Amino acid sequence: MKEETHSLPSFSAWLNKGFDLRGHARRMADARTDPEISPGSVFLTLLHSFIFRLPSFQQLDRELSHTYLQKWIDAERPFHDDTLRYSLCSFELEPLENMLVDINRRLKRSKAFDEGRAQGRLVAALDGIEVLSSFSRRCESCLERRVTLKENGRKVEQIQYYHRAVGCQMIHSPVKAFLAIEWLQPGEAEDTAALRLLRRLPDLYGSRFFDILLLDALYAQTPVLQLVREIGWDAVVSLKQNARDLYQSAVRLFSQRPPDMALTEQQDHKTYQIQLWDTEGLPFTIDNPEPVRVVRSEEVLQRQRYRQGERTPHSTDHEWLWITTLRQSEFPPTVIRQLGHARWKQENNGWMDLTQYWALKHGFLHACQHRPKRLDDASGQRESVANHGLAAVVGILLIAFTLSSAFVLRHSKLVRLYHLSTLSVAAQLRAWTSKIPPSIRAPDSGVPHSVSIS
Ligand SMILES: [Zn+2]
Repeated sequence: MKEETHSLPSFSAWLNKGFDLRGHARRMADARTDPEISPGSVFLTLLHSFIFRLPSFQQLDRELSHTYLQKWIDAERPFHDDTLRYSLCSFELEPLENMLVDINRRLKRSKAFDEGRAQGRLVAALDGIEVLSSFSRRCESCLERRVTLKENGRKVEQIQYYHRAVGCQMIHSPVKAFLAIEWLQPGEAEDTAALRLLRRLPDLYGSRFFDILLLDALYAQTPVLQLVREIGWDAVVSLKQNARDLYQSAVRLFSQRPPDMALTEQQDHKTYQIQLWDTEGLPFTIDNPEPVRVVRSEEVLQRQRYRQGERTPHSTDHEWLWITTLRQSEFPPTVIRQLGHARWKQENNGWMDLTQYWALKHGFLHACQHRPKRLDDASGQRESVANHGLAAVVGILLIAFTLSSAFVLRHSKLVRLYHLSTLSVAAQLRAWTSKIPPSIRAPDSGVPHSVSIS
């Protein structure tokens, strides 16, 4: 009988055939001179550690010394996590980004983004995420902010160091691939990094890779809307009180008239009573009176609550507003509402998933002092290269996340048959690193078997 579990060899074959994994690994580069362990091996090691969902570099170090992981990924010789750290600190980011772009193009060609489209359109969202924060460890590209803490009942102000990035992710389809990421530079606001990312996206993917961009209220501002329009995307943007004039004129207008649409939606054990208002032609701001469409949703969520063994109905009120460039004739307010909520859901599906289940909150390589040196043209001195550790690790993480999602949600027949979770698929693949790989197995050893090493 055929074994009903995923195998690492067939997973690797899928990666190589479908996404040219080995080809991309060969193009990885770092600033070390004549390293024994190639950047490609470093990349493959960390990629697999994310695919296997190892929780930390310490765990990865243990797997490297106690399993056949190094042999499975074909690394030149045994090595430890210090090699990984030293390499990753000086990793080149471009080959990582090129690989992510190539993966996403291949996914699009294989129709991975066809499912779940909104009126036939592909939907992406932009979101910010804080990757780590610390009061003590810092590096030269840390962002800083003053934080008030309570110490023995007294308020104390301290400087906190942190890193933040803006990412763009496909969100309508089951495979929620990340398209690109942009790091905030010291002293820079999030919208500046977001604009840089938006300008870069058409160079990476062309302007028609997706059609609709979902944005958070922070981006309800003229430069963002202008750029989005210039590139040719449509947008749905959350509207909050920070866009005061527009928010207030929309609320005022809608309060004077009955809803344009009312509906009830059932989801699991929740009932949503929804009232929608929709208007075109409100001026965006006083300085930029360009007319925009505003949709407002007033929602009463009813659900059963269990209190002391008794079921009691409980209801809460919610209000949402969005501005959009999509036209009423093609996109009724119900669709705008769905799109607006999809952005909110992305917080649970994208970054949140990465921070909670993919170990993104680790302080990996953040303030790494031990880095390769290079001759600096200006000073004539050999100086440590810029620290790319955090960006490299996150880049590899996004590749691992996208490939794993595509494997589980699109490729695996076993997942469909047995409803396996993504974590159990990761565990099945990881289990193979305890087995001797075919390349070093004795010719007559037949079926692979587990080996324990003391
Ligand atoms: Zn830092």
